[in-house]
Amino acid sequence: MANIRQRLNQVLQQIRSAETRHKRAQGSVTLLAVSKTWPLEDIFTAAEAGQHCFGESYVQEAIAKVDANPITLEWHFIGHIQSNKSRDIATRFDWVHSIDRLKLAKRLSEQRPPELAPLNICLQVNISEEQSKSGLQPNDVLQLALQVSDLPNLKLRGLMAIPAPCDNFDQQRAVFSQVRELQQQLIDQGLDLDTLSMGMSGDMEAAIAEGATIVRVGTAIFGQRNYQPS
Ligand SMILES: *Cc1c(COP(=O)(O)O)cnc(C)c1O
Repeated sequence: MANIRQRLNQVLQQIRSAETRHKRAQGSVTLLAVSKTWPLEDIFTAAEAGQHCFGESYVQEAIAKVDANPITLEWHFIGHIQSNKSRDIATRFDWVHSIDRLKLAKRLSEQRPPELAPLNICLQVNISEEQSKSGLQPNDVLQLALQVSDLPNLKLRGLMAIPAPCDNFDQQRAVFSQVRELQQQLIDQGLDLDTLSMGMSGDMEAAIAEGATIVRVGTAIFGQRNYQPS
């Protein structure tokens, strides 16, 4: 079986060739390696192979990993955040992709240490209206985007979406194109956005075709996850 370094390089090659195929600038898509459930050694292996950005979804696990991390990596929180855990995130992370309510955004802004750069934020959109309770309805995105862009210690960067799993490339693209159009509506309203966080191991190429700037890839790098800490 291929190791983490080989799989990471494979994913990077897939990203670069998808950029070419879909007329995206070379290097315009950033790989976020989703390391949730995997131990620090695996993160270090990927970091030694050149990977810089890592994504985590579970607060307790994420805190332990960031605090034990002696090298400077960029940390993105991509999971659900209970309000009483917001300080743990505000003090440690560079990005949060999963904002879907004003109360949480306000807390993160208040709790962001002033000596750190503003916390980069994506609003999570519930685009295929499935299973997940997380994420804003598309109609609610503009209002929250305007509110978040006024908060002092946050920097609103764009939108994040986790569509329902689907194997069909054209259907995947159709959903991602809705996210792209929603982002364009926000830009047309004067918001300065540069990030579309969309695409995972199973739908990365369709997301790149529709303008993703960050793809969040776990399984294709680290392997199949076989447990979920609570
Ligand atoms: C786990 C997770 C991913 C990675 O999914 P894979 O299918 O393993 O690539 C991406 N985004 C979010 C929000 C996740 O929770």
